[in-house]
Amino acid sequence: MILQGLLLTDPAQPPQLGWIRVDPPAAGVPGRIAEIGHGELPSDLGPPDFGGRDRIISPAFTDAHFHVPQVESVGADGLHLLEWLDRVIFPAEAWWGRGGAMASARTSARRLIREGTAGFAGYLTSHVEASRDVAMYFARKTPMRFHLGRSAMDRNAPDELTAEDRARAKQSPTPSPLLPTLDVEPKQNRRFVSANPRFAVACSDELLAEIGWAVAEREKAGERVLVQTHLAETKPECELVAELFPDAPHYTAVYDQAGLLRDGALLAHGIYLADDELELIRERNAAIVHCPTANLFLESGLFNWTRAAFDFGVRVLLGSDIAGGPDVAMPRVARSMIETAKALKLTRSGADAERISVPSPAEVWKLITEGNATIFGQPGAPDRFGVLEEGAHADLLVLRVPDAWRDEHLVGRLIYSWSSRLIEARVFNGQHVDPANIERQTGGSPC
Ligand SMILES: [Zn+2]
Repeated sequence: MILQGLLLTDPAQPPQLGWIRVDPPAAGVPGRIAEIGHGELPSDLGPPDFGGRDRIISPAFTDAHFHVPQVESVGADGLHLLEWLDRVIFPAEAWWGRGGAMASARTSARRLIREGTAGFAGYLTSHVEASRDVAMYFARKTPMRFHLGRSAMDRNAPDELTAEDRARAKQSPTPSPLLPTLDVEPKQNRRFVSANPRFAVACSDELLAEIGWAVAEREKAGERVLVQTHLAETKPECELVAELFPDAPHYTAVYDQAGLLRDGALLAHGIYLADDELELIRERNAAIVHCPTANLFLESGLFNWTRAAFDFGVRVLLGSDIAGGPDVAMPRVARSMIETAKALKLTRSGADAERISVPSPAEVWKLITEGNATIFGQPGAPDRFGVLEEGAHADLLVLRVPDAWRDEHLVGRLIYSWSSRLIEARVFNGQHVDPANIERQTGGSPC
């Protein structure tokens, strides 16, 4: 497959005309970028299958925090986190135990693909069987890459969502709190089961320790298991955690003591963290997933990116946090990251205001393509994601933009005027993918 266009190799630089030859997936090898050429397309290769001289070619997006069962729960406004979980989210997730899981899976897949998201780190519900079916659906029916885990929880939520973990803990021998390894071949380094203790409020000490143990066991057996959880999203949640874990020095330590604060762990939100918590997160090489749209929607707070990333050197990624966040589209989440930094700056004055960094459109574009994709492969590793480089996994977008956009503000225009209609073609795992075909293949309702 040949793609032609202006290659957005580095969003801080003007894109240059070029072409990309893509190899489709074959015999256990993922679809990869086989060759990148600069300048005009050689006549023996043309015409291109997708793109053209005036199109933009970008790596596709990765979302570092997404809840599959919440895809239809967007827009339930007027509530704060703990009340919103009780009144909106837990009832929605309970539907997975009554046959609603596959509908959420199909809708999530269609919306993510439509908005150009090729990879994500996501949560399922606490239902083992339904969660496993949904992970298998993503693996078999979509070309997406993912880390997906069931939301483990055994307290402070309805029985329907906590019963499986409470019953499991009483069985002998105790089955794993994690989903089984996905039975899909070839794995292609794109599909992983993760460990997702929901958050400390909904997990007992015992459950957290058990998950930490299960992750360590899987890793000893050579499996890669990412930990995903929520941390310090709101003040009432932090107060509740302090009551529930009176012996822990702080919220972050609750996860650390259970062996969950590990290399690559994805800690969503992290708004209310003390200095020693940020230091511990950096020491353990965990990452904070900034969810700016969700932080505003639930009025949780303004995450201080400058403090976490620059003062403490913590790795910060970006997540939609559907349905706390209302936008699936990662460019809109990226825009909200810029706006959050600007809003935070406006709450300060003098030298305090000057110390707040506002990320540029190029920086946030790089974060939703290359930065977030590091959850699948670290820089320097043999598998590369989210970049226009020979040998990298071929997850690409062909964008068609108005002529007037092709100036030095191109990336700013993409961020601030984003629409999925700008995407002319999506190539995920080296294959052309059409969100409409995902609907037809699976019989889902249009949305
Ligand atoms: Zn979340």
